[in-house]
Amino acid sequence: MRRIPEPFRIKMVEPIKQTTGAERRAALEAAGWNPFLLLAEDVYIDLLTDSGTGAMSDRQWAGIMMGDEAYAGSRNFVELERAVRDIFGYQHVMPTHQGRGAEQILFPELVKRCKGKAPVFISNYHFDTTKAHVELAGARAINLLTPKALDTTAPYAWKGDFDLPRLSDTIETLGADNVAGIIITVTCNSAGGQPVSMANMETVAELARRHHIPVVIDAARFAENAWFIKERDPAYAKRSIKEIVRQMFALGDIFTMSAKKDGLVNIGGLCCFKEDLDLFRAVQVRCVAMEGFVTYGGLAGRDMAALAIGLREGMDEEYLTYRISQVAYLGERLAEAGIPIQTPTGGHAVFVDAKKLLPHIPAEQFPAHALACELYLEGGVRGVEIGSLLLGRDPATGKQEAADFELLRLTIPRRVYTRDHMDYVADCLIAVKARASDIRGLTFDYEPPLLRHFTARLKPV
Ligand SMILES: *Cc1c(COP(=O)(O)O)cnc(C)c1O
Repeated sequence: MRRIPEPFRIKMVEPIKQTTGAERRAALEAAGWNPFLLLAEDVYIDLLTDSGTGAMSDRQWAGIMMGDEAYAGSRNFVELERAVRDIFGYQHVMPTHQGRGAEQILFPELVKRCKGKAPVFISNYHFDTTKAHVELAGARAINLLTPKALDTTAPYAWKGDFDLPRLSDTIETLGADNVAGIIITVTCNSAGGQPVSMANMETVAELARRHHIPVVIDAARFAENAWFIKERDPAYAKRSIKEIVRQMFALGDIFTMSAKKDGLVNIGGLCCFKEDLDLFRAVQVRCVAMEGFVTYGGLAGRDMAALAIGLREGMDEEYLTYRISQVAYLGERLAEAGIPIQTPTGGHAVFVDAKKLLPHIPAEQFPAHALACELYLEGGVRGVEIGSLLLGRDPATGKQEAADFELLRLTIPRRVYTRDHMDYVADCLIAVKARASDIRGLTFDYEPPLLRHFTARLKPV
């Protein structure tokens, strides 16, 4: 892969401020050793998430000025509907305020249509809000990710794939009538932004069709997944991103999308149906009650204008090559310095293996969270823990479970930071590695009962 420079010029800048070590320590203590509770102002380089943090283009900003704020039938809705039909080939289009908005109106309807008494959804890996909405709809969420994803050091091209033998076993064991849907998450966020292969998607779709199970594509990073298919599967090397996207989506029946990722907007989502008009109408009823009228779904007209443009820009091949190679560059800098990461790097983030970097810190003292705190103290860089703190306690026993992964996620916003910023982040983490054996674990000062990683307060042990 040839690395290309930023395929854009910068015509507006947003100043960011470097802080002193003493200021960062005071800020982190005030935030209860939880980077989520830091003020963004106290962060120099913010790699907390790639969700809604990207920079829009001049065309998108021009689209914002062309917002048609009619309550019903906005011109921008028509533009968005046209873009979705053209890109994905899905006829029925519903905007939502973000990805979880689509989940909250779709899943109850799929559960209602499920014939079995013990409904489940099966996914390569449910995103956390996806799992929450599956459970709120009264179903169970089952993850069947390929075991190859668990070994961070062994490279594998398709660490987002379903474990196919377990998928067919699970359908047989539970009975197809109990499977309310199969959710293909592209790319697989929780495994490290890892792609799902076309072959894997095809087999999943075939299995689903045979058992009359609807296939939902969780499409937040659809373009990054298509780029990986083009890059890594020789059968697609000469196909355009748009053709690959079309082929991926032909394998699904419905897609939900957080447009805050590959849609290149700061807010927005979609819930779309290939052809099932009946289901579309049922979900529309929920949309009106919970998101907004069916031609705006919680968005302003201007938001839909920016999204219609962003969907196309997000598939630009030059942009995608720059984007994914920027993530790979940060990964290479860290790997060269002997910092263990999930390999190969994924589409939107570098995942540092804190279990390997801080082997002296046990799971119940949250090694990846401790690493996130040290990285902030070192240079004002904010990352996020994906590990035991996020996982929480076993609801039955109240015991802290040890997560499969203890990862520090460094998530790269789209079109925001330059290569120099990546070098700075790498240099900070390399400095942290040099004093790794002195880093202490953390324990709770305040532990919220639910979704505790957002608001917990901690202290060094
Ligand atoms: C972000 C995300 C969601 C949820 O979308 P929001 O826009 O944050 O509500 C769902 N699935 C995946 C894979 C995501 O990355």
